[in-house]
Amino acid sequence: PRNYVGFDSITGQIEKKLLKRGFQFNIMCVGQTGLGKSTLINTIFASHLLDSKGRLSPAEPNRTTTEIQTVLHTIEENGVRLHLNIVDTPGYGDKVNNERCWDPIVKYIKDQHSAYLRKELTAQRERYILDTRIHCCLFFIQPTGHSLKPIDIIVLKKLMDICNVVPVIAKSDALTLEEQAAFKERIREEFAFHHIKMYPYDNDLLDEDERAMNSHIRNMIPFAVVGSEKDIVVDGKIVRGRKSRWGLINVENESHCEFISLRNFLTRTHLQDLIESTSQIHYENFRSKQLLALKE
Ligand code: GDP
Ligand code: MG
Repeated sequence: PRNYVGFDSITGQIEKKLLKRGFQFNIMCVGQTGLGKSTLINTIFASHLLDSKGRLSPAEPNRTTTEIQTVLHTIEENGVRLHLNIVDTPGYGDKVNNERCWDPIVKYIKDQHSAYLRKELTAQRERYILDTRIHCCLFFIQPTGHSLKPIDIIVLKKLMDICNVVPVIAKSDALTLEEQAAFKERIREEFAFHHIKMYPYDNDLLDEDERAMNSHIRNMIPFAVVGSEKDIVVDGKIVRGRKSRWGLINVENESHCEFISLRNFLTRTHLQDLIESTSQIHYENFRSKQLLALKE
């Protein structure tokens, strides 16, 4: 056409640049020691890695985490790079007196916002600011089958104000399917009662399908998960699973647990939204408060 200038190729240029740089995704695990945090993370990302290049280094057996640790990985799939930063937190709620045990976790999240703001405000802006802000906080709930603990409610309230929180029922193989369903229902009631507003959030830009997907996720939360770093053989195929005296659990079988749903949610359907909401909601909140405080 005569009036065609060709600037529409800019989308391709942007895409190429973005893909080359890759995406930064920072995920944090919070929950008591022994609830399977390290195992789940390795199950999510290691099995994801098997069909691409590279592999997570195997975790040291039964190491307990005493301070906040970050591990960096770069995963590449079909030319798309994902820089994954996994933040493991110290045994939250492990002690007899758990007063303020959440302080280091909250501080860590705020520190990342603060570091980002500082870089943003410096005169000579870096062209690309390394993003260490937590995009997703996986919150591990003990599979008691009864209710949340008072400390969980306190901490969830603190966390949901500063980051995207995704609750999971840890080691859900400890519960029967009926117990799981009842426990989930109970937890959702508690969230509602305590005004705990979980990720994902709806906004005006979402289309009907995205809204439907969010409401589907909200009805599934907390994800009842099972993790395993061991391979088992099911029908001649090697899968991630757990073997017990009464049978096998294939973590990738959707009728056994919601591991696959959680993984799809994190790595496929909501990856970009987790990153965007962090920046547009949680970081913006932090930023406007800080800038206001500066003015006073
Ligand atoms: P962390 O302290 O929260 O990081 O917990 P770990 O990932 O180190 O796991 C503690 C123990 O629980 C290990 O022996 C794991 O094999 C076991 N474990 C992890 N996930 C599960 C699970 O989903 N179900 C069961 N039954 N055991 C699990
Ligand atoms: Mg651990």
